[in-house]
Amino acid sequence: MAEASISADQGQFSCSVCLDLLKEPVTIPCGHTFCKRCISGCWDQEDRKGIYSCPDPAPYWIS
Ligand SMILES: [Zn+2]
Ligand SMILES: [Zn+2]
Repeated sequence: MAEASISADQGQFSCSVCLDLLKEPVTIPCGHTFCKRCISGCWDQEDRKGIYSCPDPAPYWIS
């Protein structure tokens, strides 16, 4: 049953900001998961604008 394992290799468990394995994974409303440190670093810059966007332009189901 090779189909039993849905690709749990890439994307899901790596952070597209630091391109490393997730450390303290945080999932944001769009479905992407980033390291807590990475997403707070990104949102830190957007904090003054009050906009919290996703640092990954690709939908989570593609990456
Ligand atoms: Zn990261
Ligand atoms: Zn996203």
